[in-house]
Amino acid sequence: MEKIVSRHFGQPDSHHLENYLKDNGYEAARRAITQMTPAAVIDEVKKSNLRGLGGAGFPTGTKWSFIPAANPKPKYLVINGDEGEPGTFKDKYIFEQDPHALLEGIIITCFAIGSHKAYIYIRGEYTKSLERVQAAVDEAYKGKYLGKGIMGSGFDIDVVVHPGAGAYICGEETALLESLEGKKGFPRLKPPFPAVVGLFNCPTVINNVETIACVPPIINKGAEWFAKLGSEKNGGNRLFCVSGHVARPGVYELPNGTTLRELIYDHAGGIPNGRKLKAVIPGGISAPILTPDQIDVKMDFDSLKAIGSMAGSGGIIVMDDTTDMVWAAMVAARFFAHESCGQCSPCREGSGWVYRQVKKVYLGHARPHDLNNLPGIVNNIGGNTICAFGDAVSMSVGSYVSKFRSEFEAKLQPAHVA
Ligand code: SF4
Repeated sequence: MEKIVSRHFGQPDSHHLENYLKDNGYEAARRAITQMTPAAVIDEVKKSNLRGLGGAGFPTGTKWSFIPAANPKPKYLVINGDEGEPGTFKDKYIFEQDPHALLEGIIITCFAIGSHKAYIYIRGEYTKSLERVQAAVDEAYKGKYLGKGIMGSGFDIDVVVHPGAGAYICGEETALLESLEGKKGFPRLKPPFPAVVGLFNCPTVINNVETIACVPPIINKGAEWFAKLGSEKNGGNRLFCVSGHVARPGVYELPNGTTLRELIYDHAGGIPNGRKLKAVIPGGISAPILTPDQIDVKMDFDSLKAIGSMAGSGGIIVMDDTTDMVWAAMVAARFFAHESCGQCSPCREGSGWVYRQVKKVYLGHARPHDLNNLPGIVNNIGGNTICAFGDAVSMSVGSYVSKFRSEFEAKLQPAHVA
């Protein structure tokens, strides 16, 4: 199978410019800015069916086309590398092993949207990533791949590397913009969308690291080639992060549309110690949990949505039959309660309430009415908040309760007798 984004992973010193150049490096950017128009680049990316691989899955070329070319304000590209979704560790590999692929994708994207400045926002805990990306940016400036009149063209571009400070919510695109502007990472109400009012109130495209690293191969080999690799409307491959109860946890690059069963059993080596699969989170902790009868699903945005879950960030967490699902729900709920930014009441109060209720069940202190109240509590968070975090609390914790209710019931105290 042809590797795209991970093609350089594991090669010695793959992060250095001289090695990136040996494999046709920066030729796609050169071609885009010297032989193509911005509209032609956007059209090619649209035809490739490249989706946003940070979690939302929005069609990338379409997102770029929302930037109003006639707006006289500066335009910005922001790379969301605040990889904080539990179970997700793919962008880290791109930062550390192929930062020039990201930079080349940034150049092409900026050219397409009429931007001359990009920010790479990197999770603060990723110290090696920060060092590697900054070193790559310095190399690229020295080699005239960044700066004024890059590669002998008339195109100027500056790239700034910015470390995050550890808040999960700064992975939400508008919270990330607030954070970049030096403010508290509070998500913004939408509309207006960042394509119109984004960073410093200017039109802004925000894309995930892996998404942008896919762009140079699309320009090099064509949209049709890329689209054919994946499933319908989900072009190309994807980096899947597999963790939990599998024999070979790790990052696997596979075509969009590979089944979850293939991923777990053929690639990640199946469940160790002769245990059986009990549950699996298919797209980071925010994604509703799946049961073993659902693992023939294709791993793409549309197929997972059709069965009530989501492809999200590509973080697959596998749980075997020794897992206490009330405990697993409590861990998820504790995470959400801790990471809520506190800006809106249903999420701020509700996420803590959900955690306390699930913990009460886990500790054996709950009675039937506590469990009966849980679906109502989670359902009143989702759809009533500023950002999608509230929906994640509802969908994630709600799925444990609905799919493993008997395990919750087994821990209950009897009802009070009047
Ligand atoms: Fe903050 Fe939660 Fe409201 Fe999002 S939903 S803005 S995380 S309080």
